[in-house]
Amino acid sequence: LHRADPHIVVLGAGPAGGAVALGLRRLGYRVTVVAEPRPFAALEGVSERVLAGLKQAGFAQALAAMPAPSPRQVTWNGETSGANTERLIRRVELDLAIGVELVAQGVKLIAGRVRSSRAQSLSQVQDGGCEGYSVEVQAGGDPPFMLEADFLVEARGRAAPGAGLERLRGPETVSLLQAWQGPAMAPRSAVQSFDAGWAWMAATADGQRYLQLTLDVASAALPPKEQLTEFCVKRLASLSQAQPFMQDAAPIGQPQARTSTPILCLEPVGNNWIRVGDAAMAVDPLSGNGIFQSLSSALQAPAVINTLLRHPERSAQARAFHQARVEHLFYRFARIGRDFYDMEQDCAGEPFWQARRAWPDTEAMHQSVTPTQVQIARRVVLNGDLIDEAEVVVTPDQPLGMWHLNGVALAPLLRACRDAPDQPEDALARALGQHRAQAGALLLWMKN
Ligand code: FAD
Repeated sequence: LHRADPHIVVLGAGPAGGAVALGLRRLGYRVTVVAEPRPFAALEGVSERVLAGLKQAGFAQALAAMPAPSPRQVTWNGETSGANTERLIRRVELDLAIGVELVAQGVKLIAGRVRSSRAQSLSQVQDGGCEGYSVEVQAGGDPPFMLEADFLVEARGRAAPGAGLERLRGPETVSLLQAWQGPAMAPRSAVQSFDAGWAWMAATADGQRYLQLTLDVASAALPPKEQLTEFCVKRLASLSQAQPFMQDAAPIGQPQARTSTPILCLEPVGNNWIRVGDAAMAVDPLSGNGIFQSLSSALQAPAVINTLLRHPERSAQARAFHQARVEHLFYRFARIGRDFYDMEQDCAGEPFWQARRAWPDTEAMHQSVTPTQVQIARRVVLNGDLIDEAEVVVTPDQPLGMWHLNGVALAPLLRACRDAPDQPEDALARALGQHRAQAGALLLWMKN
């Protein structure tokens, strides 16, 4: 390992790979990204949360090209609402903007396919790492070449190889995405549930439409590939929300089958490798928050990598931090999805719905918290560019702990209040020192 100037290779340049590469460049690391273009055109809907994540990652180019929000109608459990909006982005364009940003920030970007990656020495494998990696890259028609890496970031999304890894899988799910072309219409999107799954439909101003069915692999009775378009058209024809998207329009080419099974990688980090984004965890696309989730695990990764490289004595803490965050994110979004599936009562007995309203568990999204359950504990925390340990406040709802609120450390405040139960506000004001103006608001927050 070249500790003084390690070479970090990132595999894949979607939102996750791009965010890690930019974060590592900011920390001064030598970073090479290897990525090939997405193999199919896809339109996705993104929430304002995704925009905040893209901003935090530093993707100015992608943000500048972001379309305005367009209306979204939802028909679920027989009820229709049209209060929502989302931004419809072409994934190929987002990837291109990320690539431009990487090059502008001094990241070396190789357009090519990763054929394999191999550990150079297995001498320390029991300790979660090896001495380095050899990555075999195929760029265009040239012969493949080898790239040496001290640290490897796996960010190839759902395409990342998973052989030999322990992974948790939810109900096996497939999404069939069919592009359509019709006359120009105002951008919009819609969602509708039906007995065998749910549909997402979207139209861009140029008349392109994307109609996507998300189905249960076991019970969908999918036909052979050449009959998939007909299968999708038949399904969509019965959905009221699909009508405006299908009117005067026709399918183009074959539907693209994308796996959308929820997957959690149980060990997403070693001493000199890390998995981020969909390669670490992916839930199904119901929440429309996939890009947000992939950015969430990626934005914390540079500090984890920095700790592993610069403070190997803290490697156990750094790994525990990433693993706990990835797992927490997965269960949080899996439970949000479960509760949304549970709202569909008309079809509750159908195999698609039965499996998803009971997965991943029966634990409530938010736990009610009694004052005695609010505790002080030591946890791994993100401290600037490093992973550290600190006293935090934990509750059943916040098992990873809260370290700071508005720049104020919470554990000393809780201790001060507990030590002076008769005058908690005075104790809080004393403990807050220069931040004493926040005492009232903090007390209210603690009581709630
Ligand atoms: P990706 O975006 O998948 O990036 C991986 C990159 O690695 C790609 O550029 C790929 O080309 C590259 N790559 C793969 N293999 C190789 C290789 N061998 N060599 C070199 N490069 C390689 N999220 C939303 O926010 N809104 C939505 O509406 C939405 N809809 C979705 C619908 C479906 C059906 C699915 C499956 C997902 C959807 N998502 C949605 C989720 C979203 O697509 C992902 O969460 C997000 O793209 C993950 O980002 P990532 O960077 O981890 O991986």
